[in-house]
Amino acid sequence: MKSINNLLRPNIRNLKPYSSARDEFSGEAAVFLDANENPFNAPFNRYPDPYQRELKKRISKIKEIHEESIFLGNGSDEAIDIAIRAFCEPGKDNIVSISPTYGMYQVSADINNIEVKKVLLTPDFELDAEALLEATDEHTKIIFLCSPNNPTGNCFNPQEVKNVLNGFDGIVVLDEAYIDFAPDKSWLKKLKQYPNLIILQTFSKAWGMAGIRLGMAFAQKEIINVFSKIKYPYNINILTQQKALELLSENDTMGKWVKQLLEERGVLINTLKTKKFVQKVYPTDANFVLLKTPEPKKIYNYLVDRKIIVRDRSNVALCEGCLRITVGTPEENRKLIEALDGLS
Ligand SMILES: *Cc1c(COP(=O)(O)O)cnc(C)c1O
Repeated sequence: MKSINNLLRPNIRNLKPYSSARDEFSGEAAVFLDANENPFNAPFNRYPDPYQRELKKRISKIKEIHEESIFLGNGSDEAIDIAIRAFCEPGKDNIVSISPTYGMYQVSADINNIEVKKVLLTPDFELDAEALLEATDEHTKIIFLCSPNNPTGNCFNPQEVKNVLNGFDGIVVLDEAYIDFAPDKSWLKKLKQYPNLIILQTFSKAWGMAGIRLGMAFAQKEIINVFSKIKYPYNINILTQQKALELLSENDTMGKWVKQLLEERGVLINTLKTKKFVQKVYPTDANFVLLKTPEPKKIYNYLVDRKIIVRDRSNVALCEGCLRITVGTPEENRKLIEALDGLS
């Protein structure tokens, strides 16, 4: 692969980052008169730690990965945007992405005026490494993968992912937003083997904290340092850092949620499979179910009338006729099934 330095945009390679007051002095002190903060209203009067050291220390223990390999963002969406801004020259470079997949790769690329080359998954939603590599050219800086993929729900064959990692000389972003629900292992342990790999995870799904906006990117130190240089100095606010630390110190709350959601998912799938209007329920490794029906719009509107909102994915490539349903609480899932029972 090419060196990180080589892949970076020249302006980013040469960027001198903003140096904040909390950057220049970060030790213990009795009196802080360096940042023009109001001395009253502690602790919210103070700027947060720009590098989220305490939170990273905790995440480092849980994920068994060095703190220097962790970037925290305002959702994984921030990491997606920063990756594009770090490596892709607007109007010149491009990214390659699987299709269908999460919509933010395309939106971030569009905002930054970066072309997206889309490569369809196979009809059974598997990754085709060869087709993906074939779509790259000398201006392709990043390949975006997502496993388990959204909206298809499946994990990709590890051998295909490996072929992409080995066959591409640029950056590979692997979005693992749903990995905590999957039987497959995260690629985190393989980070050392693949210096071009960036893994995204999030507190928005299994961790139950979409509202606090906290996403993680894991990569070799050289990439993380570039991300830290580009981000807004105080991108993770105090409330978010505190709330995340609180939940992370609880005893396996996330694991319990995941176990319950997977049980609920099983019940939901079995019930959906008995419905006449359901042609197919796709296998899923995530906390949602994709189903195929001859009348997606009718079912979508029928549910909306009953104040139940699912996601209509029927206009998405390879997902013709598909609705995506998130697994809810037992009560919510029961309401959904009861509503569908009334559909003849
Ligand atoms: C939900 C989701 C995310 C989460 O994004 P955040 O900005 O961290 O909330 C990321 N990737 C995929 C594929 C998702 O479905």
